[in-house]
Amino acid sequence: MSEPLPAYPVASATAATITLADGQELTDGMASWWCAIHGYNVAELNEAAAAQLEKMSHVMFGGLTHEPAVELGKRLVDISPQGLNRVFLADSGSVSVEVAMKMAVQYQQARAKRGRTKFLTFRGGYHGDTTGPMSVCDPEGGMHSLFNGFLPVHRFFRKPPPGFTAPMEEAYLEELRMFFADYAHTAAAFICEPVVQGAGGMYFYNPDYLSVLKSLCEEHGLLLIFDEIATGFGRTGKLFAAGHAGLTPDILCLGKALTGGYLTLAATLCTDQVAEVIGRSQAKVLMHGPTFMANPLACAIACASIDLLLRSNWAERITLLSKHLALHLRPAAQLPLVKDVRVLGGIGVIETHRPVRVAEIQAFFVAQGVWIRPFGRLIYLMPPYVVTEAEVEKLCSVMVAACGRVEFFAGEK
Ligand SMILES: *Cc1c(COP(=O)(O)O)cnc(C)c1O
Repeated sequence: MSEPLPAYPVASATAATITLADGQELTDGMASWWCAIHGYNVAELNEAAAAQLEKMSHVMFGGLTHEPAVELGKRLVDISPQGLNRVFLADSGSVSVEVAMKMAVQYQQARAKRGRTKFLTFRGGYHGDTTGPMSVCDPEGGMHSLFNGFLPVHRFFRKPPPGFTAPMEEAYLEELRMFFADYAHTAAAFICEPVVQGAGGMYFYNPDYLSVLKSLCEEHGLLLIFDEIATGFGRTGKLFAAGHAGLTPDILCLGKALTGGYLTLAATLCTDQVAEVIGRSQAKVLMHGPTFMANPLACAIACASIDLLLRSNWAERITLLSKHLALHLRPAAQLPLVKDVRVLGGIGVIETHRPVRVAEIQAFFVAQGVWIRPFGRLIYLMPPYVVTEAEVEKLCSVMVAACGRVEFFAGEK
């Protein structure tokens, strides 16, 4: 870093409040990059962590197994889309995507489709920062040019037209079918973030496109991978975004909110069929085994987090949060610097015409007592589900105020 932006030292955090070292309190609009869904310092999660620490914080997961992993596996199979019965536990979202990609390649190899090593995906996606995921991130917004020559080259198709409720465009579908006709025979899988593209642009599209993708994948012998690392555990109003389309992908990646934001843990789920084909391969097993696979401490907290979520009227909460975000962000739509205001589930987005000046707008937010971290032309909220309406109103009004001030935006795009 040659020109580091300021960083604010944090002393503690509770519920939806982050307390800085100098005593200032910030209302949290980010859930720490979308993972702290229950807020901070959550009694149930603290207890689960403490109880597990007394037993063991870690043992290797080769030749040994333990209750927290077994319990977490059961819960994930129970709550995820019907048919995803196999669970691989990994140590971060990016690694769960690596695992999903390796599953798809091994699956095709086992079916003697060795040439199928490419991936198809939408432009505008984000799947993580390690090599495999980076190679399927948006080629312009991602790091492709920086790592050109190092990254494997995959096939990108224009993302679906915008709007969760926008009608399907037949011309788009026709092009998508042609894209499959051209490239599917080289590909192991299609990977995408269902319904909401997160870090790639906080972008929403009609879930019906996913049903078309699913049938195209079936027709062409590709697996369908949903990366629900951002959308999983209720954020979009369904427990999983796949639920908006009522379908089951072949492989599903989960992370971020899995432990309620306490520890790094991720999961890659797949169908029996995918697992059985890989099991019949020469290797007989999925070739991946991280040191901290199924870390007991993280698994115990993840179980407690899922139990807490399921007990919490999460669906009603998200419906209300959505209503409040829409109501209190609405005034931004009138502002000349604002291009679009959109809300889906617990996600509220203001897209501006010009990029934000992060250091300046961040200092304003902190001075106003909120924690919001914009990027590019996007100022957004993904708060913990426990925020009160008053807190949502405060977050939104500060965001709207910032969008009225030209000094927080760069000159030209
Ligand atoms: C955050 C994110 C990842 C990467 O997860 P890490 O835990 O940061 O490695 C992958 N895909 C999506 C959709 C994400 O939002």
